Amino acid sequence: MLYEKLDGEKVRCELCGHKCVIASGEYGLCRVRQNVAGRLRSLTYGLVVALNVDPIEKKPLFHYLPGTKSLSIAAPGCNFQCEFCQNWQISQSPRMDSHVRGQAVSPEQVVSGAIAHDCASISYTYTEPTVFFEMAYDTAVLAHRKHIGNVFVSNGYMSLKAIEMIAPYLDAINVDLKAFRDETYQRVMKARLEPVLTALRALVAAGVWVEVTTLVVPGMNDSPEELADIAGFIAKDLGRSVPWHVSRFHGDYKMADVRATPIETMALACRIGREAGLRFVYSGNLPGCADESTHCPNCHEMLIDRQGYSVRGIRLSDGLCPKCGEAIEGVWSRG
Ligand code: SF4
Repeated sequence: MLYEKLDGEKVRCELCGHKCVIASGEYGLCRVRQNVAGRLRSLTYGLVVALNVDPIEKKPLFHYLPGTKSLSIAAPGCNFQCEFCQNWQISQSPRMDSHVRGQAVSPEQVVSGAIAHDCASISYTYTEPTVFFEMAYDTAVLAHRKHIGNVFVSNGYMSLKAIEMIAPYLDAINVDLKAFRDETYQRVMKARLEPVLTALRALVAAGVWVEVTTLVVPGMNDSPEELADIAGFIAKDLGRSVPWHVSRFHGDYKMADVRATPIETMALACRIGREAGLRFVYSGNLPGCADESTHCPNCHEMLIDRQGYSVRGIRLSDGLCPKCGEAIEGVWSRG
């Protein structure tokens, strides 16, 4: 899907912001799409490297069907090369291995699995769903026929064409906004900032429920100025009701020796988010922290009580705060 044929059996992939031009026999930057005699082929269709039943809170999505289960799948590969990747064994495997490996599974089997495990949604997650777009798309279409929702957990590098195609079937997405400096995106992620911002705006405009996550990495994106830039972008360009998840970093992959995010920095990030006008700011990877729960932005009543990934109580009444009647934005019922 989503490529253009060029002269001399070359193709241009239009799935993500890299827009790779690929000669016959060669691969795209993600290493899971290959030009085979002038046709672009997905090498991971029907292959998964992870298949689990997760709480939706784990994505994290806090304003989409809280307390429900989501069948979570991943194919190998990613269009980013983040030096701090927490799933690098499966996201980077096509770059480290000459073969793309995985367990064979069809879209029909994924949807049947979601039904069998009483999941309200299917999450395309752990790696980057954009680069297994065809598998995700076919599964998402089938899932909707069975009244099961679809969720992407993404780096937000999808092209506008890809967003237009998946939006009718995509109910919610959590996008990592990993920094607000293009230099950081180029150096650490091997990507660019602007396509992520463009995709975020387009997803909101398309009516997909959007939440944003920022992993706060010491020395990379943790200055008050950069955190304020991220929070300000969310508030002004996406909307104050878009939840912002500030996530604590622990050393991993090529940044294994970087210290964990100090608690004070996490608290500062949350404060900056609220000062920017965001109605919902959460801190993650900090179990037991009060910033895991949803409070009414108007009267501060506790509305969804969370601990870690578990929901201990939901006090919303038809999407409204039961105390003051404030409307709380989100997707609260399966419709
Ligand atoms: S999906 Fe892969 S092949 Fe296509 S543009 Fe992105 S990195 Fe390149």
